[in-house]
Amino acid sequence: MAKKVIVIGSGFAGLSAASHLAQKGYKVTILEKNSIPGGRARKFEQDGFMFDMGPSWYWMPDVFEQYFAQFGKKPSDYYELVRLDPSYEVIFGKGNSMEVPAKMEELEAMFEHYERGSSQKLRQFLKEAQYKYEVGMNEFVHKPSHSIMEFADTRILMSLFRLQMFTSISKHIRKLFKHEQLIQLLEFPVLFLGATPENTPALYSMMNYADMALGTWYPMGGMHKIVEGMVSVAEELGVEIKLNEEVQQIYVPNGHATKVITQNGEYEADIVVGGADYHHVEQQLLQPEHRMYNEKYWDKRTMAPSSLLFYLGIDKKIEGLHHHNLFFDADFKKHAVEIYDQPQWPSDPLFYVCAPSVTDPSVAPEGKENLFVLIPLAPNLEDTDEKRETYFNIVMDRLEDLTGQEIRKHIVYKRAFAHRDFEKDYHAYKGNAYGLANTLFQTAFLKPKLRSKKVSNLYYTGQLTTPGPGVPPSLISGSVVANEIFKAVKP
Ligand SMILES: Cc1cc2nc3c(=O)[nH]c(=O)nc-3n(C[C@H](O)[C@H](O)[C@H](O)COP(=O)(O)OP(=O)(O)OC[C@H]3O[C@@H](n4cnc5c(N)ncnc54)[C@H](O)[C@@H]3O)c2cc1C
Repeated sequence: MAKKVIVIGSGFAGLSAASHLAQKGYKVTILEKNSIPGGRARKFEQDGFMFDMGPSWYWMPDVFEQYFAQFGKKPSDYYELVRLDPSYEVIFGKGNSMEVPAKMEELEAMFEHYERGSSQKLRQFLKEAQYKYEVGMNEFVHKPSHSIMEFADTRILMSLFRLQMFTSISKHIRKLFKHEQLIQLLEFPVLFLGATPENTPALYSMMNYADMALGTWYPMGGMHKIVEGMVSVAEELGVEIKLNEEVQQIYVPNGHATKVITQNGEYEADIVVGGADYHHVEQQLLQPEHRMYNEKYWDKRTMAPSSLLFYLGIDKKIEGLHHHNLFFDADFKKHAVEIYDQPQWPSDPLFYVCAPSVTDPSVAPEGKENLFVLIPLAPNLEDTDEKRETYFNIVMDRLEDLTGQEIRKHIVYKRAFAHRDFEKDYHAYKGNAYGLANTLFQTAFLKPKLRSKKVSNLYYTGQLTTPGPGVPPSLISGSVVANEIFKAVKP
C-alpha cells in the first residue's frame, strides 16, 4: 500500500506538491476549503465577465515550462500564451507615462530618451541580473533551506559577492541611473517580493531580468487556465481533490500526525503537507506543543502587503488603457512608508489596473471592459465598507482624470475584496495578500522551515516558506517539499 499524503490547500504550491508526490508513487489527497481550486488564483464569473481574483502578471515562462515538462506536458497543452507588447504602461501623471516595450532595442532607446548613456548601463545591469537569475533559479530556489550549510559550497560563496546579497536593490539601481522615472521603473518589480527596494537585496535585480528580458505574458482565457492545467495534471496522476473540505485539526499523538480532521470527517495520513498559510496551519490546526513558532515570532515577521481589490465590469471600452497599467502618479516612498514603517491607510495611494479584456475578448462581453484594480495596503488594517468606498472614489477620480473619460457611471458590476476577505477565504495572517516579504532577514534558511521539527511527518509549502511569494516560487516550493518528503520516507 502506498503511503497516504494529505495536502491542505489547492493553491499553486499545494497542487505542485501533490502532483510531484503522486508521480513519485504516494497516494495523495488534497483538502481544499473553497469551492474551486487555485487559492489566491481563483476566478469567478458574473454577467458575462470572467475575473481572475489574484495574480495577473505571468512572468518567468521558463518556470511554467519546466513545471509542466516534469510531467511530460507543455503549457500549450493547456493554454495559449501571448507576449504582451508593450509589456505594461507606467503612468506618472497626466500626459506623462512610459509604455515599456517588449523588444530590447526599443527598451534601450526609451532609456536613452530619458537619460543619455543609460542604454549602455541598462545592458550592464541586465547582464548582471541574468547571472543572478541563472544562479538564483538553478541553484538557490531549489534548496530546502534547512540550514546555512546548504549555501556553504565554494562556488556559491564565491558568487555571493556577484549576487549582491548585502547591497540593497535601491542602492544598486541608483548607482547606475539618475532619472527618477527610470529608477521607479526598475524598482517596481521588487514590489512583487513584498518589501521596499531599500530592504530588498540587490540579488533580486533578477526580477528586472525576468521583466525586461524574459517578458510579460498572458495565458488566453485568464490566469486561472494555469490552475486548470495543473489540476488536469494532478488528476491524471491520481490525485484526489476534495473541495469544500476545510481542515480544522491535524491530529498528532506522540509527535507524529496520524489524521487530519475536517468539518465533514477524518482522513488518515502517513504524511501531511500544509499548503495553506503557514501561520494558519501552525497556530490554528496544531496544539501549542507542536508549533515551531509562537505568535510573537509571527508578529515580528515582515508580511508582504495586503490589497484592496475591485473587480469591475464596464459597459464600454476604455480609451488609452493597456493590459497592465501602473499608476505611479503619487509619492512612491510615502506609500511604502504607510505600508511598512507606519502601517495605515495610505494618504495618496499608488494603484494598478489590469484590463485583460484589452488582450482577451473571452473575459468580457463584446464591447465591454473587464477591470481589476489593486491598491497595495499594509496588512492588519481595519477594513470597513466605508474605507473601501473612500478608496474606490479616490482611484476612480484619478483614473477618470488621467484617462480623460467617464468610467464610474459605466460600471455594471462591482465587487470589492480586502483584508477581511483574505482572512475569511484563505485564512491569511493579518489579511496578507502575498505571503511573507523577501527581505534579507527572511530569505532562504531564514524563512519559516518547510519541515516541522516538532511533528515528524509534517511539512509546509507555499508563499510563507521557501522560496517565497509569487506564482513561480509557489510552483517550485511544491517540488522542493516533495523532494524532501521523498528523501525522508519512500512511498
Ligand atoms: C491580489 C494578488 C495579486 C497577485 N499578483 C501576482 C502576480 O501578478 N504574479 C505572481 O506571480 N504572483 C502574484 N500574486 C501572488 C501569488 O498569487 C501567490 O504567491 C500564490 O498564488 C500563492 O500560492 P500558495 O499555494 O502558496 O497559497 P494559496 O493560493 O493561498 O493557497 C492556499 C490554499 O489553502 C486553502 N486553505 C486555507 N486554509 C485551509 C484549511 N483550513 N483547510 C483547507 N484548505 C485551506 C486556501 O483556500 C487556498 O486555496 C498575487 C497574489 C494576490 C493575492
